[in-house]
Amino acid sequence: MLKTGVVADRRYLKHFAGRAHPERPQRAEVMIEMAESLRRPDLKFMTPRDATPEEIESCHTPDYIATVARTASLDRFDFDPDTHSSRDTYETALLSAGGVLTAVEAVMDGAVANGFAIVRPPGHHALPNRAMGFCFFNNVAIAAKWLIESRGLKRVMIVDWDVHHGNGLQDIFYESPEVLYVSTHQFPHYPGTGSLHEIGYGAGVGFTVNLPMPAEFGDAEYLRVFDRLIVPIGRHFNPEFILVSSGFDAHFRDELAQMRVTEAGFGAMARRVKRLAAECCGGRMVAALEGGYDLEAIAESGRAVIDEFGRDADEPIRPDDGGDRVMPMIERAAQNVGRFWNLG
Ligand SMILES: [Zn+2]
Repeated sequence: MLKTGVVADRRYLKHFAGRAHPERPQRAEVMIEMAESLRRPDLKFMTPRDATPEEIESCHTPDYIATVARTASLDRFDFDPDTHSSRDTYETALLSAGGVLTAVEAVMDGAVANGFAIVRPPGHHALPNRAMGFCFFNNVAIAAKWLIESRGLKRVMIVDWDVHHGNGLQDIFYESPEVLYVSTHQFPHYPGTGSLHEIGYGAGVGFTVNLPMPAEFGDAEYLRVFDRLIVPIGRHFNPEFILVSSGFDAHFRDELAQMRVTEAGFGAMARRVKRLAAECCGGRMVAALEGGYDLEAIAESGRAVIDEFGRDADEPIRPDDGGDRVMPMIERAAQNVGRFWNLG
């Protein structure tokens, strides 16, 4: 039986965003230690490769890449009030994008069934020409482009359950019908984008699905959103590969947001994505770490997701109960995107 690939490497500790910065090296450390402690025979640990300049250029401008590269000679550079580099940031960011590519390649080549990439710095806020929100290169976007440009895929789905809207992912694929971008996020909240009305543009209309939720929503609301919208839309899109921007900052213990998701909730979302991948694309999926700033919460949530990735996909999914207060958002979203997607 094929294994779940886990990309883990202590070189991810090298990027340093500043003392007391929440996106700290210990995040990678606790995730790697968690994965190593699982001692499961169905996990295959993988060493990441660097992303190549051409791969980074699939999503970022040469001028911006050169700006990030130049920070390798600076003790510190402030890209914005939240996003700071150290001498090792450029190198670590190349390895972060490359880590997701390592997992995606292994799945495409049939070396593993699916994958989880423990990477940092995160990527989903990074714009083509700008670092923001602790992100430098858009790791998941680069992986989606690689699947399309190097492997000829026509339909890639990105599920972004980080508590923040992935404005960079949305921006890069806003006019593309090849990438279905679906995001759950606290709203209003950083970075301010991700309203129900942002649905894509031109050929990409309908292929951006934003599912904004007010603070304090938790497992029941998230699972209802998966069951009523994300899974039916995904089934209709019929992806050839699913990427998950797997931030864990919607966890109730996270201090950068106010959602109430538990580690079991992340596991239940992972089960739904895994089932969708089994239905549509032979189980091909890779999750990449994005945000998540409570060390215990990210380790426990990461464990729950990796556990689900390794399970038998035939296990039943228990329908959610509760979550009625998310129904108004679901109904408004259905009005906006129901003309593009059969919601079942
Ligand atoms: Zn986040």
